[in-house]
Amino acid sequence: MTSSNSNHLLIVSGPSGVGKGTIISALLERNPTLSVAISATTRRPRTGETSGTHYYFMNHAEFRKLANNGEFLEWCEVHGNLYGTLKSEISRLNSIGKTVLLEIDTQGAMKVKESNPGCKLIFIEPPSMSELESRLRSRGTEKSDVVARRIEGAKVEMSAKGSYDIRVTNSTVAQSVNEIEKFILSLGDIK
Ligand code: 5GP
Repeated sequence: MTSSNSNHLLIVSGPSGVGKGTIISALLERNPTLSVAISATTRRPRTGETSGTHYYFMNHAEFRKLANNGEFLEWCEVHGNLYGTLKSEISRLNSIGKTVLLEIDTQGAMKVKESNPGCKLIFIEPPSMSELESRLRSRGTEKSDVVARRIEGAKVEMSAKGSYDIRVTNSTVAQSVNEIEKFILSLGDIK
């Protein structure tokens, strides 16, 4: 897939633990014109995460300063931490001809949809909530109270799925990637 028009803004949301990261990595590997905007966050890095690759990690004061300067397209509190999409990330990627994909929560997605009505919303859902809970617990990257908060958050995320342009059930990564690719191609000016 190559893009002749990089103005598409694609948003991928879904509850924590649903496998968004794996699906997006596979999607990017197969479609080099797509690129994910790196968000800013006040969350602590997980083992193996580095600033400028996974997120721009920063403290609250740094984040607030960017927010006050109007540098975010949107920002939200998610699971007790602040996350935001930097406008500069989108222009940077657009300037090198990329179609930008945002991996953000449903609150953020609704805000972006308001300011960019042409953006396309993709929701990834788990085969079942019990499957999601066991995935979150087995991931082992968060403490149990954090896992409990993410499970509660997942229910809120799921309640927003009706506002999305396409909903994909992540039974297998390959199938999810195929469905998303088909959707992106159907948008017309991405080849
Ligand atoms: P995690 O801490 O697992 O990396 O991400 C937690 C949640 O934050 C995910 O649902 C993810 O989509 C969301 N998120 C990541 N970056 C952003 C952002 O820039 N804005 C918003 N609104 N949500 C984000």
